[in-house]
Amino acid sequence: MRNTSKPSFVIGNYNVIMIVADSCRYDSAKKAKTPFLSSFSELRCAEAPATYTFPSHMSFFLGILPVLIDGNSEYLSGISQIWRSVNARENKKTVAIIYRERNIIDHYCQNDYEVVGAGGVSFFGSAWGNVLPQLFPRFIHFEESLLIAREENIPRQTMHFPLANIEKIVSEIDKSRPFFLFINCPETHIPYDSPFVKVGVDYKKAARKLYGIDSIKHRPVVGQKRLTEKEREILMNAQSKSMEWIDFKTEELYRKILNGKPTLIIVMGDHGDEFGEGGRYGHAHYHPNVMYVPFWCGIL
Ligand SMILES: [Zn+2]
Repeated sequence: MRNTSKPSFVIGNYNVIMIVADSCRYDSAKKAKTPFLSSFSELRCAEAPATYTFPSHMSFFLGILPVLIDGNSEYLSGISQIWRSVNARENKKTVAIIYRERNIIDHYCQNDYEVVGAGGVSFFGSAWGNVLPQLFPRFIHFEESLLIAREENIPRQTMHFPLANIEKIVSEIDKSRPFFLFINCPETHIPYDSPFVKVGVDYKKAARKLYGIDSIKHRPVVGQKRLTEKEREILMNAQSKSMEWIDFKTEELYRKILNGKPTLIIVMGDHGDEFGEGGRYGHAHYHPNVMYVPFWCGIL
């Protein structure tokens, strides 16, 4: 399935699936078994464009992806930049797709693609003023109710994960046309549960403790408030298992959405989470565990 020749992208002749495993750390992804993603790409270590969801996604929608830092700067064979705006300064990179529109979402809209987004974490909720979903002509929300306290909502209801609603997402797409599909996946975001995660008493205790730290996460946390090594391990393992669930469901999505055209598929993290390694927790601050994210990319 893995393609080693330099690909060419003629508008209208290919689809795009862009999936973001929100908050997934590189090391969590490395521990996960991801047979579908591995079938078309090695797991690459990449540096996120920002420390939290909003700026990272704004960057992705300009086609500026996490920077590969594992020694090979090519995203695909012979391609060192997938998208570039005509407004960007010329560089010597081999670019696959040049666009003239405001961002890559507009690019595919203007070229008669089916363009659909689905999500995700609260930045993708339907609240008035939420910019990210408004960039899409059609965005499907699978958000959690804000009326339930986060600490009480463990495990989360599977119906709020976009990848648990594949039939609904696929039904939004007219298969006679090429498509650009974006999905933000909250499974790897705190509290890290998904149907592949065993949520027991110890897990709930650890996740609730982390929610307690959340309000002070931009300062180093000391003493009893810190996660113990066991609690840290429980939550890190949950993030790995949720990455496995994303792999499993992405394959199902791909099989159901096939339309006879080749599909550029990108699966990546937008940022990671620190678990106290440098003293702090969560994201929206600089630390290698916040910046290093997994990256898979291929053409199926
Ligand atoms: Zn995020």
